[in-house]
Amino acid sequence: MNRRKVLISLGALSMAGVARAETIKPLNLSDAEWKKRLPPAAYQVLRKEATERPYSSPLNTEKRKGTFVCLGCDLPLFSSDAKFDSGTGWPSFFRALPGNLKTKTDYKLVYPRTEYHCARCGGHHGHLFNDGPKPTGLRYCNNGVALKFIPA
Ligand SMILES: [Zn+2]
Repeated sequence: MNRRKVLISLGALSMAGVARAETIKPLNLSDAEWKKRLPPAAYQVLRKEATERPYSSPLNTEKRKGTFVCLGCDLPLFSSDAKFDSGTGWPSFFRALPGNLKTKTDYKLVYPRTEYHCARCGGHHGHLFNDGPKPTGLRYCNNGVALKFIPA
């Protein structure tokens, strides 16, 4: 492989978030430690996959520039540039920061849904749908209580 080809494949890897995800050191705490560390409502969402009441999060109306990070471990998950008003009552994003979320399929409702969680602490954040706006067509429907907003 020549040098140019190597550079291209490395670029493709980081575009997909693969290279970055592999450098994330997992944060593994016991259930008791999480319970101590998190506010009760955030504990229920992040560790027990609960869903907050719609329109209950102040982050629904957060419109400043900045970064939304995981409340459990401070890993940056979304940029304010990708936030949009979905009308659902939950903070919504059409794109996540690359490599910092992982997904799985859950069957809690009748139809399968794509659950997503923090790549570092494993905390549950929300569900991913394909009815979002351009340019991605994705909708990350996130529990506001699981996020912390850091203004730019
Ligand atoms: Zn986390």
